[in-house]
Amino acid sequence: NHAKRDSSRTRFFTATMADELHQYELLQLRFSEALAKGKLSLAFQPQFSLKTGKLTGAEALCRWHDEILGHVSPGTFIPLAEEQGLICALGEWVLEAACQQLMAWERQGKPFPGRLCVNVSAQQMDDPRLAEHIQRIAMRVPPGKLGLELTESGLMRNPEQTVRITRALCKAGFSMAIDDFGTGYSSLSYLKRFAADTLKIDMSFVQDMLKSSHDHAIVATIIAMAQTLGMLTVAEGVEAAEQAEALRALGCTGVQGFHFGRPVDGATFAELWL
Ligand code: C2E
Ligand code: MG
Ligand code: MG
Ligand code: MG
Repeated sequence: NHAKRDSSRTRFFTATMADELHQYELLQLRFSEALAKGKLSLAFQPQFSLKTGKLTGAEALCRWHDEILGHVSPGTFIPLAEEQGLICALGEWVLEAACQQLMAWERQGKPFPGRLCVNVSAQQMDDPRLAEHIQRIAMRVPPGKLGLELTESGLMRNPEQTVRITRALCKAGFSMAIDDFGTGYSSLSYLKRFAADTLKIDMSFVQDMLKSSHDHAIVATIIAMAQTLGMLTVAEGVEAAEQAEALRALGCTGVQGFHFGRPVDGATFAELWL
């Protein structure tokens, strides 16, 4: 198969390409079905305070297990949902499911002691009425229990609209984090105008900070800037105690990563605070 590909560098439709197209269409079809039939699920990854060691919150991460395709990672199906115009529907489903989970823990007598954060994709930010939609979906949970994670690149697509949306959501009581910070290109003047309270330091910097003085400097700079702006910092992708130690030394306020806990289902997650 490989040999065939290499010998046909000129562009014509090969059996491999037909396979890939078929595979892509199959993915699209099965994803839209999974979303429509409520076959997606959420996993929860804990976030801890580096100051107190206490559980402060969690990130809700979407999961898709397909009967035929097996486990498909968000790295595959989120872009797929974006291309299919399904990302807003997915975003609504995720927020709805996160609220259901908060209410379920409450009913079971184990109310979540922290804040549950959901990811908001860039395309959702194109909706000028996003703040109202989120408030309507989350009507039955206290907004202080919910956080929204917006990627740095998503925020800068339409920064003026983002300023309005984040301010409305902040006023309504939701907290907001800028996700994957350091990988986008937000201007410092906007950073102040977005009503975000937290910067999430992208895991690429965190994972290299002990190997590379360059990455260490980037992490240090992000934390110092957040402090100046009165924002919290959550380092993502912390996989080793030494990384956590270095982050604490720099004044980082929170951590999330495999060293502290992997994303798990709701029932398993609830064991963390009981
Ligand atoms: P993200 O929002 O930056 O989420 C963090 C990702 O890092 C998650 O990957 C998580 O499992 C992974 N992670 C956490 N700790 C560690 C660690 O210590 N080491 C390593 N190597 N990885 C770690 P996941 O669940 O595969 O999600 C990937 C991305 O897909 C997310 O990145 C987010 O951008 C997107 N995503 C996931 N769920 C949703 C969703 O419900 N809505 C939207 N719009 N995007 C989502
Ligand atoms: Mg996130
Ligand atoms: Mg992130
Ligand atoms: Mg990330």
